[in-house]
Amino acid sequence: MFDDLKPIDAAGGCQTPLYIAGPCSAESRGQVLASARGVAACGVSWLRAGVWKPRTKPGGFEGMGDAALEWLAEAKAATGLRTMTEVATPRHLEAALRSGVDGVWIGARTTTNPFAVQQIADALQGVDIPVLVKNPVNPDVNLWIGSLERIYNAGIRRLAAIHRGFGSYEPAAYRNPPQWSVVFELRRQIPSLPIICDPSHIGGRAELVAPLARQAMEMGLDGLMIECHCRPQEALSDSAQQLTPDELRQLIGSVRLRRTPDAPDAMRDFRMRIDALDDRLIELLAERMGVAREIGRYKSQHGMPIVHRDRFNEILEAASAKAAEKQLSSKFICRIITDIHEESVRQQWEVNNKK
Ligand code: PEP
Ligand code: MN
Repeated sequence: MFDDLKPIDAAGGCQTPLYIAGPCSAESRGQVLASARGVAACGVSWLRAGVWKPRTKPGGFEGMGDAALEWLAEAKAATGLRTMTEVATPRHLEAALRSGVDGVWIGARTTTNPFAVQQIADALQGVDIPVLVKNPVNPDVNLWIGSLERIYNAGIRRLAAIHRGFGSYEPAAYRNPPQWSVVFELRRQIPSLPIICDPSHIGGRAELVAPLARQAMEMGLDGLMIECHCRPQEALSDSAQQLTPDELRQLIGSVRLRRTPDAPDAMRDFRMRIDALDDRLIELLAERMGVAREIGRYKSQHGMPIVHRDRFNEILEAASAKAAEKQLSSKFICRIITDIHEESVRQQWEVNNKK
């Protein structure tokens, strides 16, 4: 399976990396046309825009629906961009195809639901368009692969995955923290599958998008899907994370392309795995310090001292035992835990003593 995939662009002359950009949502004819012109001026070949928006709660902006498909068709005629939208049901797919949309993506919430993906797959039988499958909201690589398999089994060969980060309950620096280890596992299991990054939904804030995009390219991903709006501050959805066309141009200019790999492929794979693990270590440390600050507040409210010598000894003993179990040097682990504890104490102090 997956050994006869074709480039996303039918003609084969696939732009590398593949850039897809456009507003989170198609809001009005004028907004779609202005955003499309901005995107086209950046040299991007695909326009994205959401027509049906999956909102977390009812009452949010749920997209302009079928009417917006006409604006996409008009933007395509005016700019030559190929168009792409999200489909969550067979009806969405049929309406999108009827209006001449060139490609579709399956959103993170839909990928999570095998029934919904299968219905879309059934409706895709006999259709030859690019289909991009976003990761499910939860970091489950098999659920992601299952959705890709359903679409592949429907006969789709222009197939790609999109990493848009994973939902997290803990407050995090990113709206949907990335998990590169999941991406590398997907690449390991399906080496022929292009993987695109959506730094907009990962970051959730415009200033985080460009650094994430560069990181994704360094990680060897094959393209970027970026939200770009002619006037982001007026956007009806995801206003904080959309770039202006100017910002998009700067971002594209700043992406370093790896033309010739400077290390053999195997080395690059190792390095990517190491980078992904380091990333997880940092996320975990950030989470641990978050808990430390909560403890700091609690202790202060209850008149408790910050440092309890017995507690630290307990932590060190547990770490030492775990180190032995994992064939790690207990000296090394105790040194790290001591540093982490010291920083934890500092954070507990800071949370009550700094305004
Ligand atoms: C989107 O692309 O606008 C969107 C809703 O994305 P996701 O499915 O990643 O949340
Ligand atoms: Mn969005």
